[in-house]
Amino acid sequence: MFIGWLSIEGITMGAHRLWTHHSFQVTPLLSTVLMIMQTMAGQNCIWIWVRDHRQHHRYEDTDGDPRNASRGFFFSHMGWLMCRKHPSIIKTGKNINMEDLNADPIVMFQKNYYYLLYFIFAVYVPVAIPVYFWNESWNVSLFVNYFFRYVNVLHTTWCVNSVAHSFGNKPFDKNILAVESRFVSLVTFGDGTHNFHHAFPWDYRSPELGTSLQITSKLIEGLARLGMASNLKYVSDDMIKARAKRTGDGTYKTQTSEKAL
Ligand SMILES: [Zn+2]
Ligand SMILES: [Zn+2]
Repeated sequence: MFIGWLSIEGITMGAHRLWTHHSFQVTPLLSTVLMIMQTMAGQNCIWIWVRDHRQHHRYEDTDGDPRNASRGFFFSHMGWLMCRKHPSIIKTGKNINMEDLNADPIVMFQKNYYYLLYFIFAVYVPVAIPVYFWNESWNVSLFVNYFFRYVNVLHTTWCVNSVAHSFGNKPFDKNILAVESRFVSLVTFGDGTHNFHHAFPWDYRSPELGTSLQITSKLIEGLARLGMASNLKYVSDDMIKARAKRTGDGTYKTQTSEKAL
């Protein structure tokens, strides 16, 4: 459970809010820790994850989007990983600017040694800990801490692409498929306010603003107080209200107050 949560944070705080959207900055130590946590999730290296996600935002729910939700629920959930890429994805993928990550030594180190790092941090360490510390058998530990955890984290992450592009309201932009989903907030420990996220992707609170827990946002704020994170970007309440009024579906309710960090 704890390793599962760590790997979800490696995706949501690391690969998503930090490396894809640069909604805050971190120290090299925190960057290394997040890289290890992202490796635990086994969702490809940061570089590939970020390229696919930037493509998802830029070509949202069209043929250029790797998990185009207009091709149906199953395709956006996991079908996109089972078939050949649409020619538009290959073509538009070349338009994605990756220079920032090409210049990031931690991201490039992980890209170059991904399979070795994957074996160490996604397989060996989580499986070995219960065996060495509380005499669990290798078989049970492998099943629970690798297979079960991996499948669980994959499906919760995929729910963002499928459920959060299918069932819910659109307070900020009614013209897109992304929605607000309580269910997705629950299974991902927060990241269900996806309509807001597509409207304001650079906000560090973005995929969970308005939900009750906001664990990742509070974690980022705590790390900022410790001096490990800085330059937290966020959208003003006025801008949120104006956007909701201009393009929302009328379901917006005041849901936030300004953060000052
Ligand atoms: Zn989306
Ligand atoms: Zn995003």
